[in-house]
Amino acid sequence: MSARRLLLIGPPGAGKGTQAGLLAARLGITQVATGDMLRAAVAAGTEVGKRAKARMDAGELVDDELVTEVAKERLAQEDARRGFVLDGFPRTAAQAKSLDEMLPRLGVALERCVVIEVDEEELVKRLLARAQIEGRSDDNEASIRVRMQAYREKTRPLVEHYRELGLLVNIDGSGDIEEVARRIEAALG
Ligand code: AMP
Repeated sequence: MSARRLLLIGPPGAGKGTQAGLLAARLGITQVATGDMLRAAVAAGTEVGKRAKARMDAGELVDDELVTEVAKERLAQEDARRGFVLDGFPRTAAQAKSLDEMLPRLGVALERCVVIEVDEEELVKRLLARAQIEGRSDDNEASIRVRMQAYREKTRPLVEHYRELGLLVNIDGSGDIEEVARRIEAALG
């Protein structure tokens, strides 16, 4: 299989990060997860981390410019040449536009955009359960609500953009991790 370049979109709690990790391992490509990179920046106390922390804790989206720079630097690294799965970027129309401009400059194109769909009540249940296990500082109920709203209003509309580009693959995100992974695998071929 040639290098694969994928984008995963899904609401908070849909298992997007887990599925992106599984895909990256299975296909031997690089997972580019802006949320993970931002959390690492916060933990390391870098300038990026300092600028991102308050918004992340509140469940709000970080500035387009900041996160776009983070994603751009990561995609330009050597290991992303074997292929990548974008996890958590883009999340706004402005970020999607930046990505559309950035990829041709790197000489690559997206192959598929996988959208994981899960009912919102199920998501809140999952996120509250994850909060107890992982202790992520943004897994409290108020922050979860803000993140859901950001997804609904800013990120979910991007699906239309990828549909128009003919890249969209819809995946039912209900059930356990393995079930969802099998659906994604079947859909991507
Ligand atoms: P995630 O791990 O993908 O759920 O991301 C955790 C948090 O990082 C989000 O709630 C945002 O505050 C921030 N974040 C991650 N990726 C982005 C992005 N592409 N645009 C804006 N904020 C982001």
